[in-house]
Amino acid sequence: AIDFKWIRDNKEAVAVNIKNRNSNANLELVLQLYDKMLNLQKEVERLRGERNNVANKMKGKLEPAERQKLIEEVFYFYGWFCELGKNLKEALTTLEEDLVKLRDELQIEAQCIPNLTHPDVPIGWEDSSKLRNMVGSPRKFDFPVKDHLQLGKELDLFDFDAAAEVSGSKFYYLKNEAVMLEMALVNWTLTEVMKRGFTPLTTPEIVRSSVVEKCGFQPRGENTQVYSIEDSDQCLIGTAEIPVGGIHMDSIVAESALPLKYVAFSHCFRTEAGAAGTATRGLYRVHQFSKVEMFILCRQEESDMYHEELIKIEEDLFSSLGLHFKILDMATGDLGAPAYRKFDVEAWMPGLERYGEISSASNCTDYQSRRLGIRYRPSESPSTTSKKGKTNVAATKFVHTLNATACAVPRMLVCLLENFQQEDGSVSIPHPLRPFMGGVEAIYPK
Ligand code: AMP
Repeated sequence: AIDFKWIRDNKEAVAVNIKNRNSNANLELVLQLYDKMLNLQKEVERLRGERNNVANKMKGKLEPAERQKLIEEVFYFYGWFCELGKNLKEALTTLEEDLVKLRDELQIEAQCIPNLTHPDVPIGWEDSSKLRNMVGSPRKFDFPVKDHLQLGKELDLFDFDAAAEVSGSKFYYLKNEAVMLEMALVNWTLTEVMKRGFTPLTTPEIVRSSVVEKCGFQPRGENTQVYSIEDSDQCLIGTAEIPVGGIHMDSIVAESALPLKYVAFSHCFRTEAGAAGTATRGLYRVHQFSKVEMFILCRQEESDMYHEELIKIEEDLFSSLGLHFKILDMATGDLGAPAYRKFDVEAWMPGLERYGEISSASNCTDYQSRRLGIRYRPSESPSTTSKKGKTNVAATKFVHTLNATACAVPRMLVCLLENFQQEDGSVSIPHPLRPFMGGVEAIYPK
């Protein structure tokens, strides 16, 4: 349900937005395909009407001369002389097939058009992003600082070499306390977010490519981040946002049920195509990782408010672990297609000697719900709600969707190891995680 008419009527604004967001969407092509599709649709409808007319007339009792006249009408109309019903049917079938192809082509092109942008979002590339706020300050060390790779080696927490043999580069085994730390991070995060009224989920990690597309990700093409499964129409998920977004696909949700708040645990799989040259050391950028993701479906007028709520939850979680971080209002060039606005959290990683992104929170407004077909019926309008049934959709609105990282495990491990290392070579476990690690207070060299 992409609103092509709106796009056509607001062509200038859409073109400026595409430029600001450094998107490669081809608006001219989309509009050409849309016009072509409208014309073809009209032609198909006209032929259908014609077919119905002829069929109705032929149903009645006809004199041979009248029947002949009908045949001739159709002959002149179409310019060929064959048996009446068959040719009309054939012409229609061909045009209907063309229409399906054209609609698919239009969808593929239109899917590249990014969401609109919140008026406060800074225009430019990542370095134009605006600092919202800073929490804490970098820890001062009075001993030489190690990075997470060195700490992992000394504490026997990872095996990258075996993983490289077994799977390839950018895979890893976690070992010993690192395994417990992963489980503790996931359990503690789920517990904290559930306390705030979110419903926990684990999700399928293989989904249909069409759902990936409807969520605004590109499963095809050269620089795709998505692993596709050969000889199938399925992909591995890059984030739980996709299966969670899909839960209410093609349905009308009761307004009274909104907001729907989910917190989902999943593994995430990313090709990291085009990531060469960016920070890739150790656990920072890997092909497979665990993540706890928050997802909200809400009324249109409430999405800015829930965006603030999500960033507040992230702030609470990361500060209770004792991290120092900054929150950025990301610039247009760094938003990705579905986001209307995105706040990233970058935490201080002393071993890597820089801030690194640990989470992001996006308001996707109706970008995903239009494609996924998720609507609600405002309570003042008459209700005839049914899943996939015949309903009066005119009185409905698209929900707004938001997603935010509660805990992306590998980067949290980088932060925890590097920030809480001690002079004796141990790493202290933040207090909130200790009960989830059977009371372990620190990891010591073996
Ligand atoms: P995104 O869904 O792209 O906003 O990513 C959410 C979070 O997952 C990021 O903020 C990172 O903390 C983490 N992340 C993304 N890609 C990777 C990766 N390849 N390896 C490890 N962590 C990642």
